[in-house]
Amino acid sequence: MITFYPGPSKVYPQVADYAVDAVREGIVSLNHRSPGFMTIVQDAVQLLHEKLAIPADYHIAFVSSATECWEIVAQSLTEQASLHPYGGAFGKKWAEYAYRIKPPVALNQADVLCLVQNETSNGTQISMETLAQFRRDFSGTEGSALIAVDAVSSMAGISFDWTLADVWFASVQKCFGLPAGLAVLIYSPAALRRAQEIGENDHYNSLLFIHENFSKFQTPYTPNGLGIYLLMRVLQQVPPIAQVDAITKKRAAAWYAFFEQEMTASPFRLLVTNPAERSDTVIAVEGSEADIKAVKQAAQQAGIMLGNGYGDWKTTTFRIANFPAITDGEIETLQQFLLSFRA
Ligand SMILES: *Cc1c(COP(=O)(O)O)cnc(C)c1O
Repeated sequence: MITFYPGPSKVYPQVADYAVDAVREGIVSLNHRSPGFMTIVQDAVQLLHEKLAIPADYHIAFVSSATECWEIVAQSLTEQASLHPYGGAFGKKWAEYAYRIKPPVALNQADVLCLVQNETSNGTQISMETLAQFRRDFSGTEGSALIAVDAVSSMAGISFDWTLADVWFASVQKCFGLPAGLAVLIYSPAALRRAQEIGENDHYNSLLFIHENFSKFQTPYTPNGLGIYLLMRVLQQVPPIAQVDAITKKRAAAWYAFFEQEMTASPFRLLVTNPAERSDTVIAVEGSEADIKAVKQAAQQAGIMLGNGYGDWKTTTFRIANFPAITDGEIETLQQFLLSFRA
């Protein structure tokens, strides 16, 4: 079975060997305060800086999920309230989680702007130009306003201008090509200063407590050591983000051209009509409920797993992950299948 599911998604095949190494070499049994384990954490952090071109002064910590990051932003980095201009199911969920911790107040009192860079539910993305505009608009009025970005389904797939936001996070079961259960939380010196001003220390995952631990390459609780080790190994293997970015964008352009040029007689069309808003990493395809059901079933029989629709688009779309672990051969197989599909 080949999978185009946008999370959990295809893992790099090498992960199987890395997992064997982790068990055989006793890495999964290491005490998380031991020097051996701390070296793995340190290497993984350093490799993230190198391979993803993350600025040296931005801090990196590991937590369990992107959902946890939503809560960390609300509890540790939001003074009054956060602002959530969203256009899809994940942005909406983030707002709901945040408002349970910090109920919404007047818009002009918001001190954190929360953006989903790549909305996995409907295949839209916020370009770096748009993010720069948010940065100008939001920092202009509120000198100390932070921007937090959910980049779960794009980090490690495309490059970012990291300086345009103060917090970036992603869980690893999407573009990193790894099993779920680990998330990367990246925060700027300004975000750390904000956390210190707020001084929130009530939780096991309060950012100040996490930061204090990670300064020593430790974690507040027993971490997902296997996940961190696998992340380190995968980062050793992947090319620098500029190269990955070029491949991802070339493949995305090819996918969009495929639907606009070769699939015109099919019952399917691209969900996102404005090319400027189309995601590079998740392609959403729309059709009638019956056709969507039929194509997913036929694909399954052909050994191909398409991504289900999500949220409002659950039954009227399917999604195609354009993640780095997927090969050109697999993409070719899916395109041949789609060309031969008859509703
Ligand atoms: C998958 C996803 C999440 C949720 O990630 P978890 O690891 O399940 O918490 C959040 N935001 C976006 C945009 C996603 O695609």
